[in-house]
Amino acid sequence: MTVDCQLCWDSSPGRWIVRSGGICCAGLESSLQVSLLVQSRSRRAPPMTRVRRRSRRPSEPVVAVVKVIYSPEHKQLVPPYSVEAGVHGAPPDVPDRAEAILRDLLADDGFEIEAPTEHGLEPILALHDPGLVRFLETAWDLWTAEGRTQPLYPDTFMHRSMREGMGSVQEPESTLARMGYWCFETFTPIVEGSYPAARAAVNVGLTGADVLLAGEPIVYGLCRPPGHHVGQHIFGGSSYLNNAAIAAEQIVRRTGEPVAILDLDYHHGNGTQQLFYERPDVLYVSLHGDPIRAWPYFSGYADETGFGAGEGATRNIPLPLGCSDGPYIAALDDALELIARHGSPRLIVSLGFDTYRLDAEDFELTNAAFHTIGGRVGEGGRPTLILQEGGYYVPHLGRNARQWLRGAEGRAFEPDSEAP
Ligand SMILES: [Zn+2]
Repeated sequence: MTVDCQLCWDSSPGRWIVRSGGICCAGLESSLQVSLLVQSRSRRAPPMTRVRRRSRRPSEPVVAVVKVIYSPEHKQLVPPYSVEAGVHGAPPDVPDRAEAILRDLLADDGFEIEAPTEHGLEPILALHDPGLVRFLETAWDLWTAEGRTQPLYPDTFMHRSMREGMGSVQEPESTLARMGYWCFETFTPIVEGSYPAARAAVNVGLTGADVLLAGEPIVYGLCRPPGHHVGQHIFGGSSYLNNAAIAAEQIVRRTGEPVAILDLDYHHGNGTQQLFYERPDVLYVSLHGDPIRAWPYFSGYADETGFGAGEGATRNIPLPLGCSDGPYIAALDDALELIARHGSPRLIVSLGFDTYRLDAEDFELTNAAFHTIGGRVGEGGRPTLILQEGGYYVPHLGRNARQWLRGAEGRAFEPDSEAP
């Protein structure tokens, strides 16, 4: 327990980075235990009462702090390598992604970090196949029981044509074969920490939804791993469970009202689209690299608009190579118009920063553009839950997240000479 708590203790300023109601993120529930730990680590321990309003300059309006939901459990997910385009290379989704964002938000007194609460399996099983969830939960133990020590990657996929004309196939027994049954690519391994990290990211999203429904206008869930590539029966894209979709489903169930999802990751959120493709009560609008050239290649085209009762409730805006600030923001305005017409009282943003000009993908968005984009979303005035998806240029990831959120709050842009 003490070791776990060290995950959420920031020793340099000497404070807890996550603690809600006297409960630290690792579950230390006793305020006595917490205060003893605090005393043992720093004489500059923070007070138990949280500060609800940030300090401000006289010219700035009073703005409530934005709640940031964060769990250190994501650090358990450490993919040692990936296989992309046949090349053995560095994994894109590393723990420092979330830590870099956390560091920048901690440096800004406009944010308040809170721990997620456990929401159990029920909200997950409301959207995902129980077989998929069971596989994710047990695969690492089964794999290592076979004497394997390397990360579990698929090598054979159930291509749709393999069973053409022969009906469906049952899930195999081999762990390796099952990986190819459930996963669709080669850079989302199962390692020891995959499942606990994925569960924690779902709890981050669901706790964010709780906070939103309790009346906060803007909530940011620092999810890692991301989630928007996971469908009912399939996972991949550095994603294991669909954080944004699960949060959206719970908002619909709890309020009886529709919800809109705005996906601003570079990659199309194939999983989110698929989960709600026949639903009129969840609008899915996505801006992304045109799948004619951009991963995941097989979804995200403009003519995919939903099916049956969901016809018109899916809208894709694929964007060209080299898309820069102006065209992107013009497309965003179109997306926000679609959302306004849908009339959902609440909005979920699947937020990726792999649209950044220094990220590995082919868009050219600047740090300043992220502030403008956040501002445009915030101007809509809907209670908004922002959940982190991709973004892999770690040196500027925190700066981009911070400016996006400042924009959404209506706070000023802070020019950054190091982040173009
Ligand atoms: Zn992405």
